[in-house]
Amino acid sequence: MKAVLVIGGSDSSGGAGIARDLRTLEHFATPALCALTAVTAQSDQEVRAVFPLPPEIIRAQISAAFATREIAAIKIGMLGTRDAVRAVAQALASHAKLPIVLDPVLVASSGGALLDAQGREALCAELLALATLLTPNIPEAAALLGTELAADDAALLAQARALLAHGPEAVLLKGGHGSGPEASDLLVRMHAPVRRFTAARRALTKRGTGCALASAIAAGLAAGADLDAACERAKEYVSSLFLNDH
Ligand code: PLP
Repeated sequence: MKAVLVIGGSDSSGGAGIARDLRTLEHFATPALCALTAVTAQSDQEVRAVFPLPPEIIRAQISAAFATREIAAIKIGMLGTRDAVRAVAQALASHAKLPIVLDPVLVASSGGALLDAQGREALCAELLALATLLTPNIPEAAALLGTELAADDAALLAQARALLAHGPEAVLLKGGHGSGPEASDLLVRMHAPVRRFTAARRALTKRGTGCALASAIAAGLAAGADLDAACERAKEYVSSLFLNDH
């Protein structure tokens, strides 16, 4: 089995972050390696503390992961600081041919910040161009672009295209934070028709669904699926989390 390297933060509540990534990869029987960027103390209601790890430790974990076994895809989640963004961009520069799924984690559902403003700038300037797939939700897309929240489909599409201009090969703009009985995610690429994944809208209370989606997509890409198939299967998996409480 081809392995996935997950790069991100821990969440002491166990709902999101690396713990969620590893559970997701286990579900898909995908071997996982991990590089921790930050330790967080969180409850479901608040982010109580964030301890960013030094860039050299982040780089060392990534380098050790590549020395351990063959890696077929990478999933990036919480980075926390500009230094962490830069450390990851440097460490991955020589592995840019691998599929990289980048979940631009900015705030927890509780509202606590998980990437500071300088980190956000560095993410746009130094990391987006390495990504095969960027998976923002509606508030993250607006924050990355420094613009208003998209209020309708046309605005969502325009924001996805604007994010593409920063260099990722594809953008999956997740519509979960919108309104209406259904939520659509838009998969947007430069030279392919827009693909839409629609499902019944769920409450936003479940933690770690963004982490699970991005990790599940990385598992699919590692197994050789194309982007459409990997996104479709990952969406099904995340929907199943709402049926079985885990
Ligand atoms: N905490 C960490 C460490 C994360 O990586 C993420 C998301 O990727 C979150 C929290 C946010 O999860 P939620 O939206 O469920 O709060």
